[in-house]
Amino acid sequence: CFCQLKGGIDDCPCSVDTVDYFNNINVYPRLQTLMHLDFFRYYKVNFLRDCPFWVDDSKCSVRDCHVKSCPVDHVPEGIRSEDKQIFCDIRDSPPSTSNEELGRLDATLSESARQELLQWVAHDDVEALSYCDIGDNMENEAEFVDLLINPERFTGYRGPSAHRIWRSIYEENCFKPDNAVSNPFEALKNMCIEKRAFYRALSGLHTSINVHLCAGFLMTERAKALASLSANKVAWGPNLEEFRKRFDPDMTEGYGPQRLKNLYYLYLLELRALSKAAPYLARQQFYTGNKDEDESVRLSVRDLLRVLRSFPDPFDEKILFNDPTSGTVLREEFRQHFINITRIMDCVGCDKCKLWGKLQIQGLGTALKILFTPDDHFSPSRGHLKFRLRSLL
Ligand code: FAD
Repeated sequence: CFCQLKGGIDDCPCSVDTVDYFNNINVYPRLQTLMHLDFFRYYKVNFLRDCPFWVDDSKCSVRDCHVKSCPVDHVPEGIRSEDKQIFCDIRDSPPSTSNEELGRLDATLSESARQELLQWVAHDDVEALSYCDIGDNMENEAEFVDLLINPERFTGYRGPSAHRIWRSIYEENCFKPDNAVSNPFEALKNMCIEKRAFYRALSGLHTSINVHLCAGFLMTERAKALASLSANKVAWGPNLEEFRKRFDPDMTEGYGPQRLKNLYYLYLLELRALSKAAPYLARQQFYTGNKDEDESVRLSVRDLLRVLRSFPDPFDEKILFNDPTSGTVLREEFRQHFINITRIMDCVGCDKCKLWGKLQIQGLGTALKILFTPDDHFSPSRGHLKFRLRSLL
């Protein structure tokens, strides 16, 4: 293959081959199963939020940017329900912490119990730190989308609007490599490890989007003829030429392989977040209202978490932000930059791209939240876990 990747993944303790093997055998088939189950099939998104950074581009009129809507009654009752209680595992319910309730309890609590409650309040403040601003799922305009009938693939979104989004991500919000250093590999090495991590994760996300559009490209008449498909049919399939244009070292001034490796970096980061959150994920109900399917999701998730344990230490988040003087400030800077990038997704001028951009940036933001939450929040104490994620529904 013209650009078969080889060797190690920078700043990670494993090689491309190890990741390929582990993914192909263990992760990919299990994710395929989960993706088809209702809990993971429907995603709620608000397409109508204003772009906070510039006057909105005129909406993309390309046919393939359109998102097929999903009638509400197709979405399982349990997913539509606004009663969040049904998503909680009873064993996990934290003590109540609202100020009003605290006041009420204050009057009756002993000093030691009150101190414990205050600790919960403080802990909740740490937990409240979010890495995303993609819109509240309860916003009126938010709608459910069926991801299976709106797959991520080529849409034709390109040109100044798409470039402005990527430029804005890299130039304004990313800790980017120094342009004065002409060799991109050298430029990255000159950055501190936290800034490299930030750049690599976003570049990996960019690679993921562009690999998807190459894998699901609008087939030419010739490609359809070769695949014995009817000429009248609109069909999607892999486009090697498009992939080469974007990732062949000879066609990308040498940058292509590095961009592909950034996707592996992002993969390892997210794998580690899943492993770390395993005690939390294994307790979730994944409630849709369909008893049999919900049980099947719980079993499949636990099975996935079990195999992830066999991949030791994919990514070491402890080496990030550990400088006693600058670590906390840098982490906050990192978080603010990241939130800004999640807001940029409201400026994407193609609804299909916006859908997948938001979903993926929410996934990455969730992974970062998990990675930068102290380990002890994932160890049960008196039957409770301190960690919790905002309900996605
Ligand atoms: P672009 O991908 O637009 O890249 C701009 C510049 O960034 C390049 O010239 C290069 O210098 C640099 N660059 C490229 N890749 C990387 C990388 N991995 N790391 C670092 N730098 C890089 N199109 C679709 O067809 N389907 C989609 O679902 C889709 N989703 C999108 C979602 C978002 C959020 C955005 C912003 C765009 C999306 N697009 C999608 C458009 C797509 O990503 C490209 O912008 C478009 O195909 C034009 O590509 P291009 O070759 O001009 O370079």
